[in-house]
Amino acid sequence: MKFPSLNTQILLGAVFGILIGIALVSVGKESAITQTSLYAANLVGTFFIDLLKMVLIPLVFTSITVGVANLQAHQQIHRVWMTTLSFFVFSMSVAIVVGLTANAIFQTGKGLHLAMFQNAMANFSAKQQTPSDFFTHFLHGLFMNPFAALAQGDVLAVLIFALFLGIALVIGGERYKNILVLLQEFLDIVMQMVRWIMTIAPFGIMALLIKLMVTQDLALLGTLGKFAAVVSGSLLFHGVVLLPLILYLVTGMTPWRFWRGAREALVTAFATSSSSATLPITLRCVEHNLHVRKEIAQFVIPLGATINMDGTALYEATAALFVANLVGIDLNLTQQLIVFFTAMFAAIGAPGIPSAGMVTMVMVLQSVGLPAEAIAILLPIDRLLDTLRTAANVEGDMIGSLVVQKLVYSKGEKHD
Ligand code: ASP
Repeated sequence: MKFPSLNTQILLGAVFGILIGIALVSVGKESAITQTSLYAANLVGTFFIDLLKMVLIPLVFTSITVGVANLQAHQQIHRVWMTTLSFFVFSMSVAIVVGLTANAIFQTGKGLHLAMFQNAMANFSAKQQTPSDFFTHFLHGLFMNPFAALAQGDVLAVLIFALFLGIALVIGGERYKNILVLLQEFLDIVMQMVRWIMTIAPFGIMALLIKLMVTQDLALLGTLGKFAAVVSGSLLFHGVVLLPLILYLVTGMTPWRFWRGAREALVTAFATSSSSATLPITLRCVEHNLHVRKEIAQFVIPLGATINMDGTALYEATAALFVANLVGIDLNLTQQLIVFFTAMFAAIGAPGIPSAGMVTMVMVLQSVGLPAEAIAILLPIDRLLDTLRTAANVEGDMIGSLVVQKLVYSKGEKHD
């Protein structure tokens, strides 16, 4: 019998994870078998995420530096920059519009009353985060001692330093060639480690999904059912219809071909709820399966994992309107525009870790005078919705790299 490919194993891991999780919940959360399985799932899942995080910082550092330095060789650096950033803003805008429209149609939150959630809100105090606080904090976090950033695993600061270093290497040209070669080889070694980590991905993903199913309160989905359904439906619409359509229109790649190349990363994003943890796998997928040129992938993917978050942007906009309906405020057009922009900045500023969007959500609520405490209502179901949100985030990055490649390079050129 032929051993199934890694791709298939990962899918099977995800399906078994969900099924075993459901079975354990039906046996009873307190039962010995569920508790033992939860312990084992936690060990394996954490092990998998730790391995991914182990390679994350060296990967971001080397891939961005090498990516920027190599772009210059193709005289395309300016176009790649502009196209990448424009695509990120464009796809996040589309996502937010989907969220706002879905809310206008389905009016989530109408009919519910804040008083119904008094208990949740009583024990919760949101950290104040106005847009100006957010910007100060965001800007301050961009530039820091690179060694501290590397040691603390601060992805955004590492990314900024790597950009500077990449540009310095470009300007230095021949003079710093050895450093570039060294970083390039280091990147190859890290990618080799990613290949090893991938071999246990099916088990890691299965374990993470078992844990998710057992520890989340699925019944809560009932109370907030409509909101959860509208968010999930909009995320699916964006991820299954719009993004693939954009991809098809720009590059001619069919959704099926994209899915075959991207599914390892999409399933991992779903299971880990972290674009950062998924990054090593995303990079591997676009380079190996989707044949994006190294210099484009190494630049667009790490940058996208940090700032391009379609799913988070969509979620933040939808959740803000949900809260507005809940407290009985009708947001006018100007206020909806404010939600549009703050949701985008909140998504850009959210780090690629589980539930990060919830933290930056406070800013979106406060920008239009909504009570930040209301996120207490959303928190209990956040981890569940984070799965789809993160998958949409990672999908946006992968599609971004394909679109940028297509728009920057002419048709006839061969891939490396
Ligand atoms: N978990 C998301 C991510 O890593 C961020 C979010 O909370 O929306 O992409």
